[in-house]
Amino acid sequence: MNDLSQIPSVDQILSGKEGLSMVEEYGHQATVDAVRSCLDLVRKDFLENGSVVPDLTGLLMMIADLLRERLKPTLIPVINASGVIIHTNLGRAPLSKSALQAVCDVSGGYSTLEFSLETGGRGSRLIHAESQFQQLLGAEAALVVNNNASAVLLSLTVLTRGKKVIISRSQLVEIGGGFRIPEVLRHSGTELVEVGTTNKVHLFDYEGAFSEETSAVMRAHSSNYSIVGFTSEPEIAEIIKSAHAAGLWFFDDLGSGALLDTSTYGLKHEPMVQESLAAGADLVCFSGDKLLGGPQAGIILGKKELIDQLKVHPLARAIRADKMALSALSATLDHYIKGEALVRVPVWQMISADQGSIKTRAEMWKKALKGGDLVEAQSMVGGGSLPGETLPTTVLALDVDHPNQLLEILRNGSPSVVARVEDDRVLLDPRTVLPDRDLDFINALQTAWSKYEK
Ligand SMILES: *Cc1c(COP(=O)(O)O)cnc(C)c1O
Repeated sequence: MNDLSQIPSVDQILSGKEGLSMVEEYGHQATVDAVRSCLDLVRKDFLENGSVVPDLTGLLMMIADLLRERLKPTLIPVINASGVIIHTNLGRAPLSKSALQAVCDVSGGYSTLEFSLETGGRGSRLIHAESQFQQLLGAEAALVVNNNASAVLLSLTVLTRGKKVIISRSQLVEIGGGFRIPEVLRHSGTELVEVGTTNKVHLFDYEGAFSEETSAVMRAHSSNYSIVGFTSEPEIAEIIKSAHAAGLWFFDDLGSGALLDTSTYGLKHEPMVQESLAAGADLVCFSGDKLLGGPQAGIILGKKELIDQLKVHPLARAIRADKMALSALSATLDHYIKGEALVRVPVWQMISADQGSIKTRAEMWKKALKGGDLVEAQSMVGGGSLPGETLPTTVLALDVDHPNQLLEILRNGSPSVVARVEDDRVLLDPRTVLPDRDLDFINALQTAWSKYEK
């Protein structure tokens, strides 16, 4: 066609069989908008470029493509075959089955989020995880907020604003996503006092900085880097003793928040929440979705007199945790209370997965694909914990001419699969693929493999 008068009207398109089925699938307004956009485009293209006007079939295809594109969700599940367990870009910790069920149960209807069954009156959302942390860790008090960055900001804003906080130069960390400890201190209105050097800090460095205006000593765990070689730092128990003797608080930003000992699984020992509390830290904060293996959350544990001040501050309201995070967190903590975290919390199942069963799965993948080689490789904990630390694993390695092209095909498959390239080979690590996704994974892999031009 090369005549504008032959372009159908919006109504003609909508009342046709295809138009009606698009309305059925995508809704009236979205379909009308897409039809208008396409007709405008066709008119413009004809007038400006003299392009041929597509026939009705062509128009309908254009509209359907545009609708599909416009309504395509951007947040979708992927299968993580990268071998990085707490993959920040892939949503960090996957939730346990019970945590997922709790989110559905609590959020698909009404709940006791802020309701007391006893009195029939108002309750507090702050009690849910708090009682579990008291039971599990003997913490005096607990507060759960949106994430650990906001937990640190809240603690400093409420407790040390207008005063000085001492921190070692070796700990002036940037976590990623622009979260830098020195900047968070500044935003909280706290004055940062740096002590020691990048590689060494001594107790006398801390003590030399104590003054009338000092309010606290802080430790920020070097989550995502390690300083090796000629280094030393006092034990936190020593720093805490000294700080307390001078009437100062000690705040510990642990980051990953391990409740189980990573060294049991051949990894370096990641500082544990229990250790900080036992050493006498006044406040300890960490993420819910790193080594705890739960939902995104910032958890603050410690002295009741401090946490009570945090709870009533207006900023606490602005960064509060929602019912989905609180229900998932409660269910996750339950696994720890029952002593079943290792076999129920996905992050810990992956960390503790035995090499034999990983290899068996890699063999099964290889058989299904009729291709690739089994290769010894390393998985990583990731997510700003245990930098440089790895776990031995067996991967399915695909030796291809264009590994990045295969990665792209895998990414764009259904389901989407994220893998990694090492030494020009595509590596697929069973450790981070949840076993109940194995069948979907194999399907996606076979499809990608057949699409790839070998
Ligand atoms: C990860 C991390 C944070 C930030 O935690 P989010 O939950 O991502 O906000 C803060 N401090 C340390 C030491 C961390 O490792």
